[in-house]
Amino acid sequence: MAVTRGSQAARQCSFCCEPAVTLHRQLEQYLCSNHLVRHIQDSVIRTIEQNHLLTTGDRVAVALSGGKDSTALLLLLHQLRTRYPGVTLHAITIDEGIVGYREETIDAAKALARELGIGHSLIGFSDLFGDDLDTLLAGRAREACTVCGVLRRRALVIGARQVDATVIATGHNLDDEAQSVLMNVLRGDLPRLTLDTTTGSPGCFIPRIKPLSAISEKEIAIFLFVQGYFRDLPECPYAGHALRSEVRSVLSSLEYRYPGTMERLIKSRKDIRRISQSSGRTGRLQICQECGGPCSSELCQVCRLIRPSET
Ligand code: SF4
Repeated sequence: MAVTRGSQAARQCSFCCEPAVTLHRQLEQYLCSNHLVRHIQDSVIRTIEQNHLLTTGDRVAVALSGGKDSTALLLLLHQLRTRYPGVTLHAITIDEGIVGYREETIDAAKALARELGIGHSLIGFSDLFGDDLDTLLAGRAREACTVCGVLRRRALVIGARQVDATVIATGHNLDDEAQSVLMNVLRGDLPRLTLDTTTGSPGCFIPRIKPLSAISEKEIAIFLFVQGYFRDLPECPYAGHALRSEVRSVLSSLEYRYPGTMERLIKSRKDIRRISQSSGRTGRLQICQECGGPCSSELCQVCRLIRPSET
């Protein structure tokens, strides 16, 4: 999906007389703010229901960084609460310890959870891993997103267990998912490409769900804007070091010229997973021999990162 703004702003919505705020380029439909919100809510419902992501009695730990995607995720799950009456939400914010960046987003996360009346936990890298991210990265800033991603995933699982969550929801959007597919291909990482973390394992791993995975980054930004929740927050100082930022720029350009590129990329991952499953070559989660956490080999990435001398 792709959305553009600006020159289309004066056009009329394809479904009513209101002015359009966006053009859905793939469907070639102009959407006013009300129809954009409905389109996004419908997309989340479709993703949840087609993939059986939620069941009655679920307690959902919502990863809330305070940035755009997680803000939209919590808002949407809250807006759709009457559709899933037996499901409860709890927001979890991870404080990696990134000076000059995290303070503002943490304040935004606290304010949103308070406004929506949703329970909220704040968990710091320093408490869990002994140091904040800035300190852990001394002399190796280029590895920032790898280290941060590994530790943040673990922190989220710990936070989810603390509130007895049955499911972890993250704000990964269509762009994120397409970028991950391409990055795994570029790294030649077939196990990660084929690993499906949405199912979990009872009593062991908590399933992860991504209700925004069919919605583009731009649609999310406009959704927040028309709902009055758009905030211009600072960008992480480490973001420029990531392979993801180059992949993001390449994919955005391809999506603009060939609408539907990202969806096709994600569909190809589903096909690869299906083929891998039928040939028994799907990546499988295992238990780390050191800490008992989830991993894809004998030792998890957290133990490799923070106890390198033991590996
Ligand atoms: Fe962590 Fe990288 Fe995201 Fe910064 S950009 S918060 S270092 S994953």
